[in-house]
Amino acid sequence: MNPVDKIAGQGTGGEKLPLMESFYSIQGEGFHQGKAAWFLRLAGCDVGCVWCDVKDSWKAEAWPEVPVDTILEPVASSRAGMVVVTGGEPLLYELGGLTTAIHRAGKKAHLETSGTHPLTGKWDWICLSPKKFKKPLEEIYGMADELKVVVYNKTDFRWADETASRTRPGCRLFLQPEWSRQKTMVPLIVDFVKENPQWEISLQIHKYMNVR
Ligand code: SF4
Repeated sequence: MNPVDKIAGQGTGGEKLPLMESFYSIQGEGFHQGKAAWFLRLAGCDVGCVWCDVKDSWKAEAWPEVPVDTILEPVASSRAGMVVVTGGEPLLYELGGLTTAIHRAGKKAHLETSGTHPLTGKWDWICLSPKKFKKPLEEIYGMADELKVVVYNKTDFRWADETASRTRPGCRLFLQPEWSRQKTMVPLIVDFVKENPQWEISLQIHKYMNVR
């Protein structure tokens, strides 16, 4: 989908954003797994997943507010073709300025979001990872290119099907075992995908490779 089709927020806010991490690595999850990507992790999240592996990101005030131009400096001079904006929950902020800067640097803008706040920015790829702890806004389902559901227990398969029924045709569907539960959940996910081949498995391969 063309990024222009994904304009939801307007305005020029978000000149500074609370930045927790900025690094070049390999996308380990979902449709783009295995590809080189620059990651920008914005701090702040109000979802509260019990199994969250980045709880340090929850308090935005614990991290510096960095001007967007400064954030983009190392990104622009890198060989990265895509920039993955993640969190925390990035949509707590107006992201139009950030995606403009990413595009100006000649990179694709990818978003990872729980969908709990209105979409802002122009995105080349939207990965929606809905959480039962705070459900997504209905409007985000129709804009997602990829749905990634974390599977912690058996009831998450029902949640996955419920959320998938809201997505647009062509949205890629991924089930990802929660890291601490992978031994238990992977066999169940394998059986589920065999029965429901519209779903694929996402395995957080960066953790297997022990890269950031
Ligand atoms: Fe953690 Fe993401 Fe859940 Fe927020 S939405 S609590 S950052 S896993």
